[in-house]
Amino acid sequence: MEKLHEKFVKYGANARHWLRQCALLLPEIARQEIWRAKGFSNIYEYAAKLAGMSKAQVDTALWVVRAVEDKPELKKVVEEKGINCVKPIVAIATKETASFWAEKATEMNQHDLETYVREYKTDFLRAEKTETIEMSLDPKIADQLRKMKGALDWNTFMKELLDNQQKPEPAQTKQVPTRIKKHVIAKTNGICSYPGCHKPAEELHHANRQALDPTHNPTHIHALCKSHHHLAHHSLIANEQRQPCEWRLLAQPDKTQPKYRIDRLVQKYRSP
Ligand SMILES: [Zn+2]
Ligand SMILES: [Zn+2]
Repeated sequence: MEKLHEKFVKYGANARHWLRQCALLLPEIARQEIWRAKGFSNIYEYAAKLAGMSKAQVDTALWVVRAVEDKPELKKVVEEKGINCVKPIVAIATKETASFWAEKATEMNQHDLETYVREYKTDFLRAEKTETIEMSLDPKIADQLRKMKGALDWNTFMKELLDNQQKPEPAQTKQVPTRIKKHVIAKTNGICSYPGCHKPAEELHHANRQALDPTHNPTHIHALCKSHHHLAHHSLIANEQRQPCEWRLLAQPDKTQPKYRIDRLVQKYRSP
């Protein structure tokens, strides 16, 4: 059984390697219309019959390879890891930022990279903005809220209100106690607590890193989806010791933070 499996893994890796090589050749084959000279009716027929590539694979290959042509750093990633690994960043990378994105594409899997790009657009490319929420309240409740708010602005007031919610006591147990687990999940109704994410939370994250601080403190445990949990352990979230509404995406991990060392270790045990 093991032998069969080993063979399959080996052949599979080879197949992927050679398919990557085919994809890299396609734009030039398309440009010179070599498919025509060889009697095929178009590049899709050529790629399908000769390499078993689907139309979508051809389109992606042409698009990605052309986009990285003037970006040697990204071209290298395509050659080493394949087209799909670069796909999430093709539209955002420029010649100036190519080496930055090449590094990210090398370190992250495709899914995490997609998440990172989405947050990057939100945090770095979009101007600061506020959001208006309309609420129909009982006038007496509205009055109470206004009085409680006093001279604060609504944003600060609402944040304080959120921070002052009742929490269970921190614990030093091996596992996260159920009451803390329940509280953490209830904070976001089971949704990932990363700002703007609406995916179901799948994992609990210790913002202070359990290896550095073994206390299960409900203030510093957050429910996250897989991708945002991965971003956290890529050390790419700033202000993690504060509440998620103050988290910011980082362009580079802060290597001076002790948690960086822990995160590197976590990365090692995680398959890419
Ligand atoms: Zn974590
Ligand atoms: Zn998320």
